[in-house]
Amino acid sequence: MAAAAATTPHSLLLQRAATPAAPPRAAIAASSLSLSARAARISCAAVAAPSPAAAAAADEAERGVYNFAAGPATLPLSVLKRAQAELVDYHGSGMSIMEMSHRGKEFDAAIKKAEADLRALLAVPDTHAVLFLQGGATTQFAAVPLNLCAGPTDPADFVVSGSWSDKSFKEAKKFSAASVAWSGKDGKYTALPPFDAIKQNPEARFLHICSNETIHGVEFKDYPEPRNKSGILVADMSSNFCSKPVDVSRFGVIYAGAQKNVGPSGVTIAIVRKDLIGAAQPVTPVMLDFKTHADNASLYNTPPCFAIYICGLVFEDLLAQGGLAEVEKKNAHKAGILYDTVDASSGYYICPVDKSVRSHMNVPFTLAKGPDFEKQFIAEADKESMVQLKGHRSVGGVRASIYNAMPLAGVEKLVAFMKDFQARNP
Ligand code: PMP
Repeated sequence: MAAAAATTPHSLLLQRAATPAAPPRAAIAASSLSLSARAARISCAAVAAPSPAAAAAADEAERGVYNFAAGPATLPLSVLKRAQAELVDYHGSGMSIMEMSHRGKEFDAAIKKAEADLRALLAVPDTHAVLFLQGGATTQFAAVPLNLCAGPTDPADFVVSGSWSDKSFKEAKKFSAASVAWSGKDGKYTALPPFDAIKQNPEARFLHICSNETIHGVEFKDYPEPRNKSGILVADMSSNFCSKPVDVSRFGVIYAGAQKNVGPSGVTIAIVRKDLIGAAQPVTPVMLDFKTHADNASLYNTPPCFAIYICGLVFEDLLAQGGLAEVEKKNAHKAGILYDTVDASSGYYICPVDKSVRSHMNVPFTLAKGPDFEKQFIAEADKESMVQLKGHRSVGGVRASIYNAMPLAGVEKLVAFMKDFQARNP
């Protein structure tokens, strides 16, 4: 079957997919400044072994854009190409991974490898289960109190450091006696508390944090100790999952929508301490009960097969890069040059977030010249093939999301553009 497949129309499809119908956008839209910078990089690559920067420039030329979206977000080109190559005939089966049983040997191998690679990346201890779920991180806002609290009068503590933790707190109030242990609202969500300022209730079932606020750009660099009796810390890690090493043993539950750092939308990953599984409130829907998924190796019902498969490819790619310690160094460097540019702009660009908690994933900033110039900045950047830089509709301004898959060359190009824009519009 596989041999036949290689000569039948889907091989044509693959060829067609590899041949862009139109010239890449960057080739049309890039300014002479950025074109010559890219040409310089590319001509260097012609005489020496391709450097990572040259490889990234070549990627841009092929893709046409640097995508600064907050999520769904850019994925590694190598992963997309591998998925493309495997799409129509997965491992000689004559079927795509989207078309086969989630209980067949091919998908079984894919999900097991994805879990093993994620465990290796984050050094997930045996005390914790890895679950591939659906419903987005938003569904976990309800699932967490349903699984960890005995009922709606059981207390739970929330650090509200931005829009996402505010949403998780509000949802948790339906299924627990959730209360705010600290709020950054008065400071417009630009800071995090000293940990001893978090008013923890010793009777709380858990302490919940959002490790990286995607909209406000506030990121925990360390984690508070839970003071509740069972020592349960819960983190929504949606927007910095797998961006750096994390000591998983410190958490009762970590959850993350995949669509920022590790895959497409459609799968949500939860890492749950095993002793917390099996005590869900009786009203908990079967799909929200961690036990359902832990007992069935995430195959209780039909899982989001394609999304899990892509996550598996991303995990392989992160391991090949040397693991999360290496990935963290790259992310710190990318974020560093962007914040340095903001800080060296003499107030032209403003990032309101306290320096000690600035996110390495989502960099929000405004222009002192006001919203009209922000619009112009975003439109001109778009013409230069740097897309999806608009800040979240609730806060405005500019937001550059620079997840794992954003190449350094993309951030370098943005920084060069920022300096050029400032020089042209003093
Ligand atoms: N938490 C955080 C930190 C997020 O950034 C998002 C999505 N942007 C969510 C939760 C909600 O995730 P989902 O859309 O997967 O429900």
